[in-house]
Order: sequence, then structure tokens, then C-alpha cells
Amino acid sequence: MRGVLRLGKIAGIEIGVHYTWIFALVLFTWLFAQSTFPAIYPGWPIRTYWITGTIVSLAIFISVLVHELCHSLVAINRGLKVNSIIFFIFGGVSNIENEPESARVEFLMAGAGPLSSLILGGIFIGGAFLLDSFNRFAEPLVGTIYYIGVINIYLAVFNIFPGFPLDGGRVLRSIIWGITRSLHKATMIAGNIGRLFGWAMILLGIALVFGKDIWIFSGGLVSGIWMVFIGWFLASAADNAMREQSLRQQLAGVKVKDVMDRSPECVSPAVSIESVVHDSFILRGRRALPVCTEKGLVGIVTLADVKRLPQDVWSNTPVQEIMTRSPLLAVDQEEDLNMALQILAKNGLNQIPVLKTSQLVGLLSRADVIRYIQTRQELGMKTG
Ligand SMILES: [Zn+2]
Repeated sequence: MRGVLRLGKIAGIEIGVHYTWIFALVLFTWLFAQSTFPAIYPGWPIRTYWITGTIVSLAIFISVLVHELCHSLVAINRGLKVNSIIFFIFGGVSNIENEPESARVEFLMAGAGPLSSLILGGIFIGGAFLLDSFNRFAEPLVGTIYYIGVINIYLAVFNIFPGFPLDGGRVLRSIIWGITRSLHKATMIAGNIGRLFGWAMILLGIALVFGKDIWIFSGGLVSGIWMVFIGWFLASAADNAMREQSLRQQLAGVKVKDVMDRSPECVSPAVSIESVVHDSFILRGRRALPVCTEKGLVGIVTLADVKRLPQDVWSNTPVQEIMTRSPLLAVDQEEDLNMALQILAKNGLNQIPVLKTSQLVGLLSRADVIRYIQTRQELGMKTG
């Protein structure tokens, strides 16, 4: 991911911050130093507000990190691979390589985060009350610890709302999944609640922008805009999850060989780029070609590879100079199409060679999959 500063590794998980996270840090420091603390604890020196504001803001970061680590550690414990935890303007995201394969695993994974926040919140708030009872500790110290606790409780409460992609939405999905045995149905229900929740936040945010106080939310431009953005982020994440799920549903049971291009003409490594562009890319509308010798597949050349080279050298440059060389990532023709799409997505590829007992038999591209779906829809064929 671009714009991410890597901080290090915890339990093999890369921890990084995206530059937009700085805005969140500044915003929270400012909110606590300028608004929350002066309103609740009047009379502190200005400097104290800024110091405590900064501490609370950093504590939010650590609290979210603990929360995300708890999700990730359960995932690792259940055999999933966690690549990284990245912080950005709306919080932290664990990048888990595959979806949980059972309702039980999803339930445990999703529940671990809010549970950890709840426990941390209890410890900090309890600690603050304990210190306060001694009557010897300064108000800024007790207040800071108390608010770190409040933030953790807030994290738990916000995340437990039952709309996907929030943790509560994942818990709900796992429960419906467990009862109905249908991941599809579960994703659609939790996703639709998530979308409603997102839109409710957007509307609430707009109302706050216009200066209205609603229930426990106090009006203001900054908090209103903030809420609109989080709502929009959640609603679009819910939409994406539902779209991906319905695609998975449509392609369930379909194999790579049902969709692939079965006649990928092979070009020789010595052929010029110009002739590939003319004969295959322009004339036949292809976007990628396998490169073969009599021994078999040696590479793949794509439109993107060609674009990197200036046009005036196309005629005297052989394809082998720009192709991606073997060993290439490939899929077997009997592979599940959904699995093949996951491989494409994970590796940022647009196409992949298809093999049958290690012989090249086809090429699978995202465009093939889209065409497959569109044709079936146009003909009114039931998919899945
Ligand atoms: Zn969470």
C-alpha cells in the first residue's frame, strides 16, 4: 500500500500507519485539548490541556492497536494468515489473507476485538476511580486515565453495532451463517443492516454540520463532517462485501475451464513487439499473450508491458525483453473459478495462464469472467 510508514512487527504482523492517520491524531488531540477537557475540567493550565490531549490521542492509537491485534491473534490461532495492521484516518484495519472458513471461526475472530476493548475500558475506568479515592493524585492524571477507559468502552460499543463490516455485523453474520448454513444469506442481511447504519450516520452527520444537537451527539462542523465520512466509508464497505458475495454466489460451482479463453495463440519469444501489438492486441482485441517455445510456456506478455516501452522501438525489440518470465503463477483448469479470482486479486493480476497436467491449455482473464456473467444475465440464465 502506498503512503504507509512501517513501524515494525508484532507476532509476525506488520504494523504500519497510512499518512491520513496523522489527521486523526491531530483531530483527537485538538478535540480533547480544546473542547472535551476544558469543558469537563475547567481551570487547568493551557499546557496541561495539550499534554493530556496528546496522551489521550496516542492512547486511542494504542487502544485500537490492541483491539486489532486481538482480532488478528485469534485469526492466526485458527490457521489464517494475517499480513498487516494498517492505521488510517478512520481507524485500524487488519489485513487477513483469507475469509474465515466457518461460522465459529468468524464469531470468535469478530468478538475478540470488542471484548478486549471492553476489558481495557473497565481496567482504566476502575483504575481512575481507585486513584481518585486516594485524593492524592492530580486531576489531569486521573482525568486522562478515566478518558482512556471511556474511549475503549466507546470502541467496544461502536464496533458491536450489528451492521457489516463492523465487528457486531460480523458476529451477526456468523450467527445467521451458523443457523442457516448459508454464508450468502448471512452476508446479505448483515450487509444491508451495515448499509443502513452507514446512511444513518451520514444523515446524522449532516444534521450535526448544521449545528443541531441530537440525543447524545453535540452539533458542530468537524464532528459532523467526520461522521459523514465514517458513514460513507461503512456504507461502501458493506456494499462491496455484498457485491463480492453475490459474485461468489453466481460463480459457485463454475470451473476455470468453463470460462477461460481456450485458444490463446502462443507467440515465439523472438517475435517483435510491433507484430504482437498489430496482430493480437489490435486485430484480435487481446490484452495478454502466452509466450512459448517448443518446450512449452516461457512467459507472458501483456498490454501493460508494451506500454512501458516507447513506440519507436517496438519494431526492433523482441517480446522476450519485456515479457514476464516463467515460473509464472498459473491455475489448473479444474480449479474453482472463485479460487482463481482470489489468486488474481491477491496478486494484482488481470490474467493468468491455465494448465492441464502442466501443459498450457488456456488463459483466464478478469474480462473473461465479466463476459461470462454478462452473457448469462443477458440470456436470462440462472447462475449458481
Ligand atoms: Zn474490531
